[in-house]
Amino acid sequence: MHNEEAKLCPSATCSKGASLLGVVQENKTVRLLDNPIKLNDAFIQKAHEYGEPEKRFRFTDKCIKSGCRQWTGSSCGVMNELSASNPSIKGDEEHLPKCFIRSTCRWYSQDGAKACKICLFVVTESREDND
Ligand code: SF4
Repeated sequence: MHNEEAKLCPSATCSKGASLLGVVQENKTVRLLDNPIKLNDAFIQKAHEYGEPEKRFRFTDKCIKSGCRQWTGSSCGVMNELSASNPSIKGDEEHLPKCFIRSTCRWYSQDGAKACKICLFVVTESREDND
């Protein structure tokens, strides 16, 4: 057994250390950026002034595994649920959206091309954990 290489979370919150991954468009699909934009303090502050940034953008950051309430112990529960609730969606490895984190993406490592299809419809749930 060797340690799994570090992965990136494709649905991170707007906070220090994260990078911009995509923009939520009017039709609620996500347009992925060609290159990462590391968030700076000014962006983070400004983005919060207009309401939840996660409703308008997608961010990527290190997958912190057991530090995240979505971690099941072996995988990301967010993509597990999305994948299970969309059984008819099939991945197409020949026609993947261009994405700069694919080689280390947590979701892609779990569900391959199917994750990429689903990913473009994901708006991050950013509410505080109060349940
Ligand atoms: S699921 Fe696919 S498209 Fe979405 S961030 Fe990961 S590699 Fe990119």
